[in-house]
Amino acid sequence: MGNELLLTGNLQEVSKKAIEWLINRRPIKNLIDWGISFSLWPPHLTTSCCGTEFGAFAAARFDSERFGVLPFSSARQTNLLVIEGTLTRKMARAAKIVYDQMPEPKWVIAMGACSLEGGIFWNSYNTVLPSEIGIPVDIYAPGCPTRPEALARAIITLQKRIRGNGQMVKAKSA
Ligand code: SF4
Repeated sequence: MGNELLLTGNLQEVSKKAIEWLINRRPIKNLIDWGISFSLWPPHLTTSCCGTEFGAFAAARFDSERFGVLPFSSARQTNLLVIEGTLTRKMARAAKIVYDQMPEPKWVIAMGACSLEGGIFWNSYNTVLPSEIGIPVDIYAPGCPTRPEALARAIITLQKRIRGNGQMVKAKSA
C-alpha cells in the first residue's frame, strides 16, 4: 500500500513536470497566450464614474465581447482588473482584496485621469493611486472620462503584450 502511494505520488510529480515542460514549448505557449489574450474576464468592480464608460464599452454599440473581453465574473475566476477612475480609500481596500483574490496570470487596466495622476481629485485627502496600494497597472487608458474607444485601444494593446508581440512584454508567473 505504501509503495503504491509512493508510486502514485511520483507519477503525479512526473506528469506535473511533463505538463510544465510541454506548455513552455514555444508553439504551445504561443497558442496558450493567443487563447488567453481573447479570454479576458474582468471582475464586476466599479470604483467611480469612469465605470459608466466601461458599461458603454460592454453594451451593444461597442460590444466588448468581440474584442475577447467576456462577461463579468467573480474575482477568483477573472484575469483582468479594470480600475474605473478614482480610487477612494474605502474602494481602494475593496479593489486590493479583489486583486489579491485573482489568480495569476492577471493584468490591470486603469481608466481615467483620476487613476493616472489623481485627476480633479489630485489634492484630496481621500483618494489614492492604484500603485500606492500595491496594484501594478499594465495599461493606462487616459481621459475624463475615458471613452470606450480608448478602452478598446487599451484592450488591444494588452492583448498584443500577452501574445508577446507588443512593446514592453511583461513576464508573468503562471
Ligand atoms: Fe470621474 Fe473623470 Fe475621474 Fe473618470 S477621470 S473617475 S470620469 S472624474
